[in-house]
Amino acid sequence: MPSRRMHLAIAVPIGTIMAANKANHLNGLPYFWEVVGGALGAVGGGIGPDWPDPPATPNHRGLGHSLILAVSVGKIVFDRVDTWQGWLRGEAERMRELQLVTPVGMVGSPTEGDENRVQASASTREQRLGRRSQSPIFEGDPLLRVAYGAWEIVLRLLAGALVGLVAGWGSHLALDFGTARSLPLLY
Ligand SMILES: [Zn+2]
Repeated sequence: MPSRRMHLAIAVPIGTIMAANKANHLNGLPYFWEVVGGALGAVGGGIGPDWPDPPATPNHRGLGHSLILAVSVGKIVFDRVDTWQGWLRGEAERMRELQLVTPVGMVGSPTEGDENRVQASASTREQRLGRRSQSPIFEGDPLLRVAYGAWEIVLRLLAGALVGLVAGWGSHLALDFGTARSLPLLY
């Protein structure tokens, strides 16, 4: 049967290319992270089927190699992948915007005594936004900004990994299908 290395050598390029294809309307970092996510997902998909059915066991063709399971799950994902990717990209965009401008009310916790200060800071921010609308302004906790940035990357990686995982899994089954033992219909 094909080795793990062989599976990865096929799965990773296929998964990466498919994720890049689904992201071809994106540019720059969003595109980059989705393609990286596609490669990571393809690693999971390429070795995934052997995880519930280790090659060392005598019956190395269990649920992980089930054609019916793979086709049904694959169909569910295939029908919804655009919706899921759209949602993940939307959330990633929201995280990106949160890194640029802190929503009013997130600058500390406004108490009664703080009201004037918060209003003042909001108006200065508006002024500054008006003057230099190009440059990012973030007035909140710097750690919060890092967290938004990390979430943005995770969401973009997931959008690509979704495609890479399915493509990698499919390539694994296709490769095993060509072997003498072929694949079980169910398990
Ligand atoms: Zn296998």
